[in-house]
Amino acid sequence: MKKGRVFSGARPTGRQHLGNYLGAIKNYVALQDAYDCIYCVVDLHALTTVETTRDLRNNTIEMVFDWLAAGIRSDESIIFVQSHVPQVTELHMILSMVTPMGKLTDLPTFKEKVRMQPDNVNYGLLGYPVLMAADIALYKANAVPVGVDQAPHLEFTREIVRSFNYRYQCKVLVEPQMVVTEVPKVIGTDGQQKMSKSLDNHIELAATPEETQARVMTMVTDPARVRRTDPGNPDVCNVFSFHKIFSSPDEVAMVDTECRRAGIGCVDCKKLMAKNLNASLTGFRARRRELEGHPDDVMDILGQGAHRARAIAEATMAEVRDAVGLP
Ligand code: SF4
Repeated sequence: MKKGRVFSGARPTGRQHLGNYLGAIKNYVALQDAYDCIYCVVDLHALTTVETTRDLRNNTIEMVFDWLAAGIRSDESIIFVQSHVPQVTELHMILSMVTPMGKLTDLPTFKEKVRMQPDNVNYGLLGYPVLMAADIALYKANAVPVGVDQAPHLEFTREIVRSFNYRYQCKVLVEPQMVVTEVPKVIGTDGQQKMSKSLDNHIELAATPEETQARVMTMVTDPARVRRTDPGNPDVCNVFSFHKIFSSPDEVAMVDTECRRAGIGCVDCKKLMAKNLNASLTGFRARRRELEGHPDDVMDILGQGAHRARAIAEATMAEVRDAVGLP
């Protein structure tokens, strides 16, 4: 017996990297055992910030390749594209009527977007959290996986749901609970900032073993370790953080000891980490190659996902329209 329904969405960012995997996808896979899961590629949300829509389709397929190869099971979970279920835009409009304007303009995320793209402050940016609330409420998800830093976003969704139910004196929409996930903050190859494609400090899951090793060799290590003979401090080294995820306990202990007494050089240490990382991605890469050979199958999966999602969405909207009193 599953505990309920999970909804989560991700913008179509193309090939995923280790930060995406450790921060979200791994958790998506694990949640399937306990919940009925709905995973959505939020292409409409992406429109608020992308400069060109040319790559949207390809980025969607590439991301879904990675989701499936990582272990999201399309026969159980619903995987679909947001814009393929147009009911979400209708619910977005209705929820916008119970969302105070001042709340939206005060949100730190909106202010940040305005700062980042001052020449493109569109309505979509302002309504972003309302569309997010519509996504979750449309499928009556009772659980949403969030990192601790995203908790305020979900709280805002909960407020909108409460406002709707109060305004229309009903219990149609479900207030989602947070499934707080402990996700590691994955730092990029620069050793400083969160792993991100835009910063070009990422390691793609689908890269070849050679590309992966080349990327690992560029990783910034303990900045105080200048010469091979200098002792290092693994506690401040991002390579060591990856060892803790991908290497065996014995290897982690060895690196911890040998780094501190300059018994291992950074080149060898990185080669070992790259070898272990590549080994852990072997199965993923084989599954991805298989999927890449059958892109039509992936389109079918998205089509079936949208079909299943629309059935839930239309049932919710029938209740919503009735509660609102739309003729
Ligand atoms: Fe980092 Fe390994 Fe170099 Fe130590 S030996 S500083 S853990 S890369």
